Amino acid sequence: MKIIVCIKQVPDTNEVTIDPDTNTLVRTGIPVIINPDDKSGIEAALTLRGKIPGSTVTVVSMGPPQAEMALREALSMGCDDAVLISGRQFGGSDTLATSTIIAAALKKIGFDLIFTGRQAIDGDTAQVGPQIAEHLGIPQVSYVEEITPETDSLVVLRQFEDRYHRLRVKLPCLLTAIKDLAEPRFMTVEGIVDADEKQIRIMDYEALSDVLDPKTIGLKGSPTNVVRSFTKEPKSQGAVLKGLTADEAVDAIMARLHESHLV
Ligand SMILES: Cc1cc2nc3c(=O)[nH]c(=O)nc-3n(C[C@H](O)[C@H](O)[C@H](O)COP(=O)(O)OP(=O)(O)OC[C@H]3O[C@@H](n4cnc5c(N)ncnc54)[C@H](O)[C@@H]3O)c2cc1C
Repeated sequence: MKIIVCIKQVPDTNEVTIDPDTNTLVRTGIPVIINPDDKSGIEAALTLRGKIPGSTVTVVSMGPPQAEMALREALSMGCDDAVLISGRQFGGSDTLATSTIIAAALKKIGFDLIFTGRQAIDGDTAQVGPQIAEHLGIPQVSYVEEITPETDSLVVLRQFEDRYHRLRVKLPCLLTAIKDLAEPRFMTVEGIVDADEKQIRIMDYEALSDVLDPKTIGLKGSPTNVVRSFTKEPKSQGAVLKGLTADEAVDAIMARLHESHLV
């Protein structure tokens, strides 16, 4: 089975701070990580590879050249090969253009099963995975928490608001992974050495130009308009309760929540 995992390099939001003067995110010097849901996808893909002889796991990322770092990390976890989709023509792409480009690349790479994360922690739209499936005309299951492989299908447990869905889905298909799907393994020293020796395949605009309409990519191909971007203002001054024991503090907080009809 040819398994693809789409991974996005994102800023580590635990490290993001707000500039008090401009109220905007301070991005300089922020470490980047593989989007957490995508790491669960990598782990699930590696686990499936172990269960299905002859399977391979390819990681794919669209981004600037530094996204190679994320791909190297995935290779160090044990993925077989990596593809970086990168080109200035792709800059300014919204989710629709992003998924159009990734889907075009996946058609060229080939796939039986595609994982994306449910949601990226920076863009946060949860649109790219389902859109890729639509472009490719394959079934998709989102919020996947458990996977059981069968001959030409998978049985998956899908997390839903107040229940679970157990679904049988035919291959090829796309699954969006949530954190509960799998606990990602750590990189190994052997994996890091192996990853260093592996070549990352680059797919630029030229490599995809026969399957991509230039009107559907980059800023030109992005119907989304960002009207305004802002951080939430605090509605009122906070209160600091001092000199209370833990129990007294809990009582005081509960009293205030009751006063405000919040509990
Ligand atoms: C008008 C507009 C212009 C933009 N211009 C730029 C720009 O110039 N530069 C820029 O960096 N961003 C830009 N963006 C942001 C960009 O569209 C998003 O980062 C991207 O589409 C992913 O959306 P998301 O973060 O909401 O991912 P989600 O839909 O939340 O991601 C779900 C999953 O899809 C997969 N996925 C998402 N993105 C990628 C990727 N790049 N590679 C591989 N897998 C992926 C991952 O598995 C991820 O977990 C722009 C957005 C808009 C609206």
